[in-house]
Amino acid sequence: MAVESTNFIHAIIDKDLENRTYQDRPVYTRFPPEPNGYLHIGHAKSICLNFSTAEKYGGKCNLRFDDTNPIKEDTEYVDSIENDVRWLGFEWDKLLFASDYFEDMYHCAVQLIKKGKAYICDLTAEEIRQHRGTLTEPGKESPYRDRPIEESLAIFEDMRNGKYKDGDKVLRAKIDMSSPNINMRDPVIYRIAHATHHNTGDQWCIYPMYDYAHPIEDAIEQITHSICTLEFEDHRPLYDWVLRELEWEMPPQQIEFARLNLTNTVMSKRYLKALVDNGTVEGWDDPRMPTIAGLRRRGYTPESIRDFCDRIGVSKANSTVDISLLEHCIREDLKPKVDNRMVVFDPLKVVITNYPEDQTEEVVIENNKEDESMGFRNVPFSKELYVERDDFMEIPEKKYFRLFIGNEVRFKGAYFITCNEAIKDEAGNITELRCTYDPETKSGSGFEGRKVKGTIHWVNAATALPVKVRIYDYLMIDNEAGESVINTDSLREVSAMGEPSLVDAKAGERFQFLRHGYYIADSELNTETEKVFNQIVDLKSSYKGK
Ligand code: ATP
Ligand code: MG
Repeated sequence: MAVESTNFIHAIIDKDLENRTYQDRPVYTRFPPEPNGYLHIGHAKSICLNFSTAEKYGGKCNLRFDDTNPIKEDTEYVDSIENDVRWLGFEWDKLLFASDYFEDMYHCAVQLIKKGKAYICDLTAEEIRQHRGTLTEPGKESPYRDRPIEESLAIFEDMRNGKYKDGDKVLRAKIDMSSPNINMRDPVIYRIAHATHHNTGDQWCIYPMYDYAHPIEDAIEQITHSICTLEFEDHRPLYDWVLRELEWEMPPQQIEFARLNLTNTVMSKRYLKALVDNGTVEGWDDPRMPTIAGLRRRGYTPESIRDFCDRIGVSKANSTVDISLLEHCIREDLKPKVDNRMVVFDPLKVVITNYPEDQTEEVVIENNKEDESMGFRNVPFSKELYVERDDFMEIPEKKYFRLFIGNEVRFKGAYFITCNEAIKDEAGNITELRCTYDPETKSGSGFEGRKVKGTIHWVNAATALPVKVRIYDYLMIDNEAGESVINTDSLREVSAMGEPSLVDAKAGERFQFLRHGYYIADSELNTETEKVFNQIVDLKSSYKGK
């Protein structure tokens, strides 16, 4: 059962409920992605926060596409975002597009002009920048600041009607050019962009700016708590200004929290899009990507991501979370849930010299060590097997308990087996191990004569199923200068031998490969005839080698 987490945002809401700030209105949140890319794990944090906050208070949460910028947005992204939010296990109250409010926003702007709180400015973008001032110097007022209201109204209408080119004019809020907060120095609230919008087509050629549009979107939807990330803290005065000047009753309040940063990855949609566009990764759902689609294809479960978001909590201070916490969450989630299988990565032939020539027996192996109710399966065993090349050492290191000449180990679910001889080819490579088994030691027979220190996994050579295993390293690594750079060696493909039952693995099915980690049959590449698995996460192995 999930522990009900509480945080500073919940504390604010508790106060609001106590003070009846929003009277009888329900707690209402929204998740407002811009459909200009796929969602990533950082968005998941915001999704979990918004939806579970609404859930906690019996309130509502909308999914709203913040699509006020026509240039970079696409319906492909809209579809993927809906899919990802649902996959994480959340259902929105309403599905909305900010662009559906363009008409309302236009009228709000007219209202501001009429109040003398907005004006049309003819300065170029560059001139506006020059007038803006700096952190230490106040800005300069635009010569158009006192343009008559009627004139601004007429020009604004002409702007809407397409009379001007991009950049000719803008609508600016009339606030305070000497405000210590640069966002309050007459910010641009409308600009001209002759661009086709994915939702409204060519209906509009003026578009509202984010800082102006967002509070109106929230207010129209009767959002009570508008949760966003810390970089908007300095924009909050503008958010409040817009709603105050529009005389909105019971306006929503903006609350900021620290965005999620994770080690060994990047979380800017722009950067991620570049990786997709330049072919560094195979797509938005490449299993190395921190996108929800990538994590899903990698084998992460919605439960593990929600657990992760719960554990990192919500704070006001930026920090970077170690990616190993995310990995811990998926291990914890999968450990009791998935069956194990034996897969040998770098196969080395083993011949059990004293095992009958034409015999194959079925040994019984539990599907999950944690839970017997997950059942058992039969695995064929015979004279010729494969083990991992790594499980043999010619000259064993200290504390090496696996195969070496003269050592006895347990073959998982089968027998005690002693290694007697290593056969080499002309180049000196080991091609085969000659071993003997002790029939008395069969697993489950109750044999207690002696103990062995090592247990290794194996597959039966005659029935082994060739599988492809894709092993991933981090997308980003630190270089010698300590900068985070692209890891150019983040995918390794291994041809391995699996136990025969893996032939039935369906795309999306997860397993623990004994002694290796957790794997998922790839959703795209795994077919009836070719078995392809993605490494989800490794196990924490007890033996680290040299
Ligand atoms: P990016 O910088 O990756 O493009 P963004 O903030 O521009 O992200 P939006 O689509 O605007 O992306 O984000 C939707 C919501 O998700 C916003 O409320 C935003 O604050 C939140 N969000 C985005 N990235 C993170 C993050 N790393 N951690 C927490 N919340 C995030
Ligand atoms: Mg954004």
